[in-house]
Amino acid sequence: MLKNKVALITGSTSGIGLATAKVLARKGINLVINGLMSDEEGSQLARELETEFAIKVMFDGANLAEPKQIETMIRRAIDTLGSIDILVNNAGIQHTSPIEKFPTDKWNDIIAINLSSAFHTTQGVLSSMNKNKWGRIINIASVHGLVGSVNKSAYVAAKHGLVGLTKVSALELASSGITVNAICPGWVETPLINQQIEDIAAQQNIDISQAKEALITAKQPLPEMASPAQIGEFILFLCSNAASSITGASLPIDGAWTAQ
Ligand code: NAD
Repeated sequence: MLKNKVALITGSTSGIGLATAKVLARKGINLVINGLMSDEEGSQLARELETEFAIKVMFDGANLAEPKQIETMIRRAIDTLGSIDILVNNAGIQHTSPIEKFPTDKWNDIIAINLSSAFHTTQGVLSSMNKNKWGRIINIASVHGLVGSVNKSAYVAAKHGLVGLTKVSALELASSGITVNAICPGWVETPLINQQIEDIAAQQNIDISQAKEALITAKQPLPEMASPAQIGEFILFLCSNAASSITGASLPIDGAWTAQ
């Protein structure tokens, strides 16, 4: 049922996005991959995925902080692959600091990349999804779309915003064959959290593996990180017919973090 559909996954050159690309590719889904990589590296990654999974893959290095670049990426994708049927708004960045010292440029970048880009991509793909009367939009939020943590004002604000955008999109599209959901992970083993682990190691004078454990167990009862591929498998489920009634939901994969 998903073979030959086209998925645009933002931020798919690393972490959750790249793992999701591989999970979807295994089902014969063609891909638009995106992320902060040179065109040469991105094209190389696209060719590798094409060869490994026998699908069509295009790379677009659009900077998601730039709405015009998002518009161009979506136009290129539809011209090249015919449609966008699945949109995974995954790209995200982090910066931690108390509000008093939080740099304005970091605030602006996080709101632009983690939140506003999802508005622009959603707006951009709707004509293609509406034409086919089918679509799946999956926003990678976070537990920080549901609860707060100190020193993460921009990230928590953006992720709560993404949960809000998910609800409104789902309501507007409820009778269109398009579902819209947010996934709210706890800790996932990716490069995004390396800085936080290094900061704990330095502050507490402990090694990296101890710092990782300290980071996880400070908030998350299940003392393990999820793997990026586990998030990808859940995204695949949300794309399936079995999930056609799930829309407007914000779904935690968080080791009981938000159960407390
Ligand atoms: P990652 O750092 O491994 O990957 C981030 C991706 O986003 C990369 O491909 C990067 O190139 C891309 N990106 C960053 N800025 C961009 C820009 N301006 N334009 C285009 N692409 C850009 O991180 P990850 O952990 O895989 O994060 C993916 C998503 O999952 C993020 O939205 C993050 O907030 C969310 N998340 C992660 C965790 C975690 O513990 N790792 C937990 C909850 C939610």
